[in-house]
Amino acid sequence: MDRQQQFVLRTLEERDIRFVRLWFTDVLGFLKNVAVAPAELEGAFNEGIGFDGSAIEGFSRVFESDMVARPDPSTFQVLPWEADGGRVYSARMFCDITMPDGSPSWADPRHVLRRAMGDAASLGFTCYVHPEIEFFLLKDLPNDGTPPEPADQGGFFDQSSHDAAPHFRRRAIETLEAMGISVEFSHHEGAPGQQEIDLRYADALTMADNVMSFRYVVKEVAITQGVRASFMPKPYVEHPGSAMHTHFSLFDGERNAFHDPDDEYQLSDTGKAFLAGVVRHAREITAVSCQWVNSYKRLVVGDEAPTTASWGTSNRSALVRVPNYSPGKASSQRLEFRLPDSACNPYLMYTVVIAAGLKGIREGYELPPPAEDNVWSLSEVERRAMGYQKLPSSLESALAVMEGSELVAEALGEHVFDFFLRNKRSEWEAYRRQVTPQELRRYLSL
Ligand code: GLU
Ligand code: MG
Ligand code: MG
Repeated sequence: MDRQQQFVLRTLEERDIRFVRLWFTDVLGFLKNVAVAPAELEGAFNEGIGFDGSAIEGFSRVFESDMVARPDPSTFQVLPWEADGGRVYSARMFCDITMPDGSPSWADPRHVLRRAMGDAASLGFTCYVHPEIEFFLLKDLPNDGTPPEPADQGGFFDQSSHDAAPHFRRRAIETLEAMGISVEFSHHEGAPGQQEIDLRYADALTMADNVMSFRYVVKEVAITQGVRASFMPKPYVEHPGSAMHTHFSLFDGERNAFHDPDDEYQLSDTGKAFLAGVVRHAREITAVSCQWVNSYKRLVVGDEAPTTASWGTSNRSALVRVPNYSPGKASSQRLEFRLPDSACNPYLMYTVVIAAGLKGIREGYELPPPAEDNVWSLSEVERRAMGYQKLPSSLESALAVMEGSELVAEALGEHVFDFFLRNKRSEWEAYRRQVTPQELRRYLSL
C-alpha cells in the first residue's frame, strides 16, 4: 500500500466517512458511480472492484464484459455537500478501468487521455488546460418538449439581486473550492439564466476529472437552491448556446513553450505549429468537441460561436483565439479553442486537440494567416474565397469527416473510435426521422 492509499484510509477513519464513491466516465461523458463501504477500500486498492462493463455505454462487447475499476488515490476528495448535522459522510475517487488481467481498458476515457499526454511527454511537454464553462440555470427541466423557463432574466455580466443566480454561483464556487477545484472567474452570460464559471488551469487529466466533478456539483447545488442546471448545448432558438471554451498550453518543465516575447502575437513557433494543427484538423475533431445532434444548433453565425476553421486574436467568430492581453504573459500564453460545448466528453476532447496540435508540431505545419475580419459578416462565398474551411454543420456531416480521420482513429484508439461512430450514427438516425413542430408550421399548408 503506497502513501497516498494510506492517507485515504486514514482520512476515512478520522473523519468517519461512510461511503466512498468510485467515479468513472463512459465514452459519451456520463459520470458513473459505484459506492463502497470504507472497509472494502483496502481490497479495492489491491485488486480493484469488478463490474459488468457491458452495461456501461461503450465499455465492452458482451463476451468480454468483466472489467475492473481501480481507484486513483490522488483524486480522493470528501464531498462537502453530502453532510448530515455538519458531518460530511461521503468522499469520492476517480478510477482507472482495467481488464481482469490488469491491462488498461481501451474504453476508458482516462486511459485514452493518458495516452495522448504520454505522447506530449515524449516530445518533452505537459499539457495544461483551463475551461470557461457555460450553462443554464432553469426553473425546471420539463421533459415533455416544452421550452424551459430560465431561472433569471439577467444579461452579460449583470449583477442582479432578485434572483437565484448570484447566490447559486457563490454556493457552487464555495463547494468547488472545498473540493480543491479553484475557480478564476464567474459571471452571468449573455442569455437569460445563462452562467459562466471559469476554472483555474491544471494538467489535462486533472482538469478532465474536474470538469466531471464540476457538472455534478453544479447540478447538485442548483437543486439545493430550488433551480436546475443544464449543460445542454443550445436550449433556446433565440439565445446563444453554452460553450466550453478551453485554453490550451504546453509546458516544457517550468517554461511555457507557447511563449515567445519577440513574436508579434508573443506566440512561439511551437505554439504556431500546434495552432496550425488544430486549425487544419478542426473538421475531423468537431464530432468529439460537439457530440450531440443539438450541439450543431449552437454553431451558427452571430452567436459568438465558430462556424469556420480559422484563428484570430480579438476575433470571437474564430475557431481558435490567441488572447492578446493577459497579465504575466510569459507563463500564461495559451490558445483558446472555442469549438467545444459544455456537454462534450472532456477526456476525449482534450485527447483529439492534443493529437491535432502535436501533429502540427511534429510535421512543422505552417500557420495560415489570421482571420482579423469578422468571419460572421462575410458571405459564404467570401469565406470560401478567403480559404476558410466551413466546419461541419450537423452531427451527420461531422461524423462523416471523423470517419475518414486517421488522426482521430489513432488518438481515440480503435475501440472508442468505432463505438463513438456507431452510437452517434444511431443518434442521428433517430433524430432524422422526427417531424418537428417547425416543419409542421412551415409545410402543412403545402
Ligand atoms: N455562448 C457562446 C457560444 O456558444 C460563447 C460566448 C463567449 O464568447 O463567451 O459559443
Ligand atoms: Mg462566455
Ligand atoms: Mg472565452
